[in-house]
Amino acid sequence: MAIVRALRVPLRLRPRFSSLSSIAGSISTLVIGEHEGGAVKAPTLSAVEAAKYLGEGNSVSVLLAGTGSSLQDAAEHAASCHPSISQVIVADSDHFVHHLAEPWARLVQLVQQREGYSHIVTVSNSFGKNVLPRAAALLDVSPITDVVSISGPNQFVRPIYAGNALSTVRYTGNSPCLLSVRSTSFPEPTVAADFRAEKAPISQVDLSAFDEDSIRKSRYVKLTSQETERPDLGNAKVVVTGGRALKSAENFKMIEKLAEKLGAAVGATRAAVDAGFVPNDLQVGQTGKIVAPELYLAFGVSGAIQHVAGMRDSKVIVAVNKDSDAPIFKVADYGLVGDLFEVIPELLEKLPEK
Ligand SMILES: Cc1cc2nc3c(=O)[nH]c(=O)nc-3n(C[C@H](O)[C@H](O)[C@H](O)COP(=O)(O)OP(=O)(O)OC[C@H]3O[C@@H](n4cnc5c(N)ncnc54)[C@H](O)[C@@H]3O)c2cc1C
Repeated sequence: MAIVRALRVPLRLRPRFSSLSSIAGSISTLVIGEHEGGAVKAPTLSAVEAAKYLGEGNSVSVLLAGTGSSLQDAAEHAASCHPSISQVIVADSDHFVHHLAEPWARLVQLVQQREGYSHIVTVSNSFGKNVLPRAAALLDVSPITDVVSISGPNQFVRPIYAGNALSTVRYTGNSPCLLSVRSTSFPEPTVAADFRAEKAPISQVDLSAFDEDSIRKSRYVKLTSQETERPDLGNAKVVVTGGRALKSAENFKMIEKLAEKLGAAVGATRAAVDAGFVPNDLQVGQTGKIVAPELYLAFGVSGAIQHVAGMRDSKVIVAVNKDSDAPIFKVADYGLVGDLFEVIPELLEKLPEK
């Protein structure tokens, strides 16, 4: 079902920025980029891909920040990895290493004030969701979040009611128009890292006017993360998800073993996370991660609307549930009515080692 409705953002007079309609002819986009291990992260390239739909002739700059050789390598990578990137902007400072939202939002404001982009795009992940509203507040505009389709410089589609309806939104506010996009809706193109002989220029942000006050509001303490060789849940081609039916963290290891055999990422329902079987960064759904892998395997997952909101775009969905009326079967391409405590051991036995 698709609902079409227009949301009107009140137009106020703000002398600092021109109205979007007046600059729609010259679209320029700043993509707030993330990098790791000397390369731009795949979701950032999805944001670049999304920016293509804002209009022809859109000049796309990617903002990367952090410090050291990893940042420089990522800048080199960004300069050559996507045909739409026309400039790479680098902010080299310790302030941006830990992805704290306050200094990043201030950085976006600083770059915007100098360059005057018509659009600023980020990915709708935890980093983007953290930075975008703060940057929007500093720039005094309303952000449009979770965009899944773009049909011009100011018309966007985003899911509402946990993904049960799609809302078409027309942005009528002042420039810049700030967007967060779902990376699963804008798959990155498969281009070789060295596809381009001529690299996009790389420039440094002059941070002399950077407001140090913005970094005092939050402080990096430590990063706690699980050491795992499994693929990232947000980008994995195969995801194996377990629900409350697993009953314990010990039993949930069956899901992890199966994921290992399939080279898959592990996902979980909120019920499984709340029960303490796995950490909450594995939660798939409305209040967790949005995934769209080639193959999504759901074991003991009821298929609550809030869970389905996070995985319904998967290419092939396979569900195993002992209740033949479980709602998950309504979205599944293949369903097996059975006990997961019998099905998973059998799969583990019959599947070859990775
Ligand atoms: C505001 C809000 C946001 C939410 N956000 C999320 C979210 O992001 N992600 C999310 O997942 N949920 C979310 N929820 C919770 C959601 O509503 C459900 O409660 C949750 O998804 C249920 O998880 P589950 O399917 O593991 O558990 P249950 O609903 O308890 O389902 C367990 C299923 O396992 C089956 N089963 C039991 N034993 C076996 C067995 N041995 N073999 C096979 N099948 C078996 C049962 O038939 C049942 O269908 C949210 C809820 C709210 C209100």
